[in-house]
Amino acid sequence: MTHLSQTATWSATWTQRPLARAAQRIGFEPAGINYFVEKVNPAWSLLQLRATVVAVREETHDSKSFVLKPNMHWQGISAGQHVGVNVEINGVIHKRRYSLSRAEATDADAAKTIQITVKRVDGGLVSNYLHDHISEGDVIGLEAADGDFVLPAEVPSKLLVLTAGSGITPVFSQVATLLNEGYQGDIEFVHYVRTEVDRIFGEQLEALAARHSNLSVQWCYSEGERSEHFSAEQIAQRVADYQERHALLCGPAGFMEAVREHWSDIDRNDALAFEYFGAPPVDATDAINASITLKTGKQIHLNAGETLLDSMLANGERPKYGCKRGVCHECKCRKTSGAVKNLLTGKVTAGEEDIQLCISAPVSDVTLG
Ligand SMILES: Cc1cc2nc3c(=O)[nH]c(=O)nc-3n(C[C@H](O)[C@H](O)[C@H](O)COP(=O)(O)OP(=O)(O)OC[C@H]3O[C@@H](n4cnc5c(N)ncnc54)[C@H](O)[C@@H]3O)c2cc1C
Repeated sequence: MTHLSQTATWSATWTQRPLARAAQRIGFEPAGINYFVEKVNPAWSLLQLRATVVAVREETHDSKSFVLKPNMHWQGISAGQHVGVNVEINGVIHKRRYSLSRAEATDADAAKTIQITVKRVDGGLVSNYLHDHISEGDVIGLEAADGDFVLPAEVPSKLLVLTAGSGITPVFSQVATLLNEGYQGDIEFVHYVRTEVDRIFGEQLEALAARHSNLSVQWCYSEGERSEHFSAEQIAQRVADYQERHALLCGPAGFMEAVREHWSDIDRNDALAFEYFGAPPVDATDAINASITLKTGKQIHLNAGETLLDSMLANGERPKYGCKRGVCHECKCRKTSGAVKNLLTGKVTAGEEDIQLCISAPVSDVTLG
């Protein structure tokens, strides 16, 4: 079953292909040929990047891994990067990003599949749809891999991994890739999670650590007898030499802010690489209540600390959006007046300009055009 609209969009890659050029010379338009090809198998789209789901595996009570076999348009992915997943729900295409959640494929991997792991989000549209409606044999839309949370060419000899919740996915893929490639450095992997049953890749990580003496894994449970959360004292107890290590960080925004603040306090920002699954939170000192005037003339109220996108969603608006982190540009729109802070760059800009709703926090009243 396909979870995508059959309406094809023109793709530059198609026109560059010799077969396409030959077909056009004899009067076949790509969209026409594609219509018939997709009837045979929707994953064979000549125009769009798509993937067949070849396996689905439950990782925990609320997370599932999907093994995907992309079609011929796939250009590959590096550990730590993410892909766009497009699914059609009630006639509307929704896009979200998901990180590669296992080691990079090697040249010997003939199947050339990739794996993503999706945690259900309360009230979340796409994560719940993937869990409840996507199974083996289905075809979903993909968007090319992207992201700069990748391993450096020269990997430092001592690593510290700090992850929480589903933030384990990109870093698990980095660590598994490193170990596959024979990395000899020392890795301290510290994962923060509610309870033992909530651990994504719990057994896989334990098995990796059993095979590789240079990997040590520690679980910090927030629920139970000894409730443990990240703090300067807590991490010092867990990993005595943590300040000497190059750190890889991914998890919910609050957890990441606490880690980043401490790394800034100890002047180790250069030794911290991180990935947000959503936009960074609005800094308390920038947070203001503001009035947003929409293109329709309707005015909505923005609560201090919200992005423009959060506020529009909370007010029942349905703007187009995707990754909620400034990656996909789906929520780009015109601002005709007012000033906003870009949460990724920290830059404040005013006046008429294109902005991304998901990473824009107003610093004055704003009008969208
Ligand atoms: C680079 C990157 C990598 C990622 N990698 C992973 C990964 O490996 N694994 C993973 O599980 N996730 C990952 N994510 C997160 C993922 O892309 C989705 O954001 C996540 O699955 C939630 O999507 P959703 O459609 O289920 O939730 P959404 O529908 O987008 O909702 C998200 C939250 O907003 C709330 N919300 C939605 N609509 C409204 C509304 N109208 N009013 C008020 N609140 C509302 C929901 O209740 C929910 O709490 C990644 C994100 C990025 C940017």
